[in-house]
Amino acid sequence: MATGLYYSDACLGHDTGDHPENRQRLEAIMGRLEGLSDLGEMVRRTPGPADLSLVEAVHLPAYVDRVARMAGSGGGNLDADTIVSPGSMNAALHAVGGAVEASVAAIGGEVDNAFVAVRPCGHHASAGVGMGFCLFNNVAIAAHHLLAEGLASRVAVVDFDVHHGNGTQEIFYDDPSVLMISLHQSPLYPGSGHYNEMGRGAGEGYTVNIPLPPGTGDEGYDLAMERVVEPAVARYGPDMMLVSAGYDPHWQDPLASMGVTVHGFRRVMERIKGLADGLCGGKVVAVLEGGYDLKALSSAVEASIRVLAGSGKVVEDPYGSPGAGVGLERAEAVVAAVRGLHRL
Ligand SMILES: [Zn+2]
Repeated sequence: MATGLYYSDACLGHDTGDHPENRQRLEAIMGRLEGLSDLGEMVRRTPGPADLSLVEAVHLPAYVDRVARMAGSGGGNLDADTIVSPGSMNAALHAVGGAVEASVAAIGGEVDNAFVAVRPCGHHASAGVGMGFCLFNNVAIAAHHLLAEGLASRVAVVDFDVHHGNGTQEIFYDDPSVLMISLHQSPLYPGSGHYNEMGRGAGEGYTVNIPLPPGTGDEGYDLAMERVVEPAVARYGPDMMLVSAGYDPHWQDPLASMGVTVHGFRRVMERIKGLADGLCGGKVVAVLEGGYDLKALSSAVEASIRVLAGSGKVVEDPYGSPGAGVGLERAEAVVAAVRGLHRL
């Protein structure tokens, strides 16, 4: 048994040109991991493309068709930020394939847990709309597949990307078989994710939003994990945990200002792994979302993988320390409000 690392070169074929979400992100991550021989017990897997039927079980066929046709006719834009290149359909299918294959392997006991290093990212993609650099919702499709195949009946998603996971939220908004928890900076793109957004109908209470202020920092993230994420996931009792692992809360990230360091990301992953170990036999799969400073991204991914693989080695932050979080007090107030609303 070991930690799975899922990666395919096909994900480099999503050519975004001069854009923060570019192929260098995966090259930085894989380049860094290649040089390391002491990561712990790891198995490397190259996922294949997901079957279209898996994608169309979550996304509207007309939307999937639109992406495929755009890629097939030389590329284009879904919105101002979201590019489709000729290789994007193939890249996106491999990204979904990575998330699905890793999840099936983890739930089947073939690996203990896994990290899925893929792009394009997914958490902003809803059933019919790709946006925010995201084409297909890798994590949502993996969760849906586990549920549809009867491999799990309750899946908890923890999304620590700095942006609200609006696509994943929308896909499961009325579905109690997925607990969706998003920690994100507020205000920030895409503007949703208020703590009053808690689910609908049978899904009421199964969406948990933690909209944190800029400058929340390591301490504020740890507080949100301890006081909201841990009790919410423990009460839910999942069969499996999926993580939308975005590293744009890092204090040097060009797209946000959360003040989190590599040590903060390690702590977040330690708490997630602790939950999975205690609740669902350690079955947790982390899927890459954002993170746009290459040094911060690759360091924080290494730190996350070391936690999953049980390596005790501490990865230092490549930029040092940002100093004390400036938003901690306001973060505490948000955490208290979310605890009250969800009766945690
Ligand atoms: Zn993000």
